Amino acid sequence: CAKDQGRNTYHYFKPEMDVHALERLMLENALRRAIERNELVLHYQPQVAADDARVLGCEALVRWQHPELGMLQPVQFIGVAEESGLIVALGEWVLETACRQLAAWQAAGRELVVAVNISALQFRHGGFFDSVRRILRDTGVDPRHLELELTESALMQPTPEVLARMQQLRDLGIMLALDDFGTGYSSLSYLKRLPIRRLKLDRSFVKDLPDDAEDVAIAMATLSLARDLGMDVVAEGVENEVQWRFLAQHGCQVMQGYLFSRPLPADAWERWLAERQGV
Ligand code: C2E
Ligand code: MG
Ligand code: MG
Ligand code: MG
Repeated sequence: CAKDQGRNTYHYFKPEMDVHALERLMLENALRRAIERNELVLHYQPQVAADDARVLGCEALVRWQHPELGMLQPVQFIGVAEESGLIVALGEWVLETACRQLAAWQAAGRELVVAVNISALQFRHGGFFDSVRRILRDTGVDPRHLELELTESALMQPTPEVLARMQQLRDLGIMLALDDFGTGYSSLSYLKRLPIRRLKLDRSFVKDLPDDAEDVAIAMATLSLARDLGMDVVAEGVENEVQWRFLAQHGCQVMQGYLFSRPLPADAWERWLAERQGV
């Protein structure tokens, strides 16, 4: 029983530590090394205009090229990164890598906006704003082509500090988007106070459009709210033309989803873009 085993002093074999906890600890250590060893990679998924599908930019999405396990998806490691605080270092790596890539595209004359996901913990971390400024300086990107995707949890209590931080980012020229819109529990009244230019309608509401009456109601309400607040809407997870047409007809400006492309490594994304634009 647990009491007898309490004498065991090998902390790394703590009997009360179940397999799950051990797995998490190992994953956390491996992830810490992965950041140092540069095993993380970014994939890029296009965002296109709803009216003519011209490419406006892309969202950077992190993957972990694990030496033994292969390509790991965010769902397999972002949770551990958040719980362990590693998300701050991971997020900084993502932002810096995305900005280096954006600077290279800007130098090559490509007009693109790159959107980067910022976790709530990263956004609230004391060093966040300085790290954004350092990265802009080091990479030389035009901040007007950088968009940061925040989640409702980051903005749940829009304290004066949170509002001031958002305004500081806006003052640099960076655009702010609210990711996974509709999945949080925050009230809508705070939205009007936030310097946000676009909402990302969560994939879960797009999936069953236009057959599911509730999803239709949520999508239309989001589009009408955004219109009244002077914001754009990006629809996530657009997989077919029926969804595209429905969303475009109801005023959604930007589409993102497998219908256009899956997230691609930088070189494949550049080829995809060149093919589309004929350059
Ligand atoms: P998200 O920011 O909402 O990103 C959109 C997710 O939807 C991506 O999953 C993308 O691959 C997926 N997706 C896009 N179009 C479609 C579609 O048509 N059908 C389906 N079934 N899925 C589609 P991914 O890359 O697995 O990322 C999942 C989540 O992990 C992201 O959701 C974001 O919350 C988080 N994440 C990814 N990269 C980062 C990062 O660099 N930093 C942070 N903090 N979080 C990240
Ligand atoms: Mg996102
Ligand atoms: Mg999203
Ligand atoms: Mg989502």
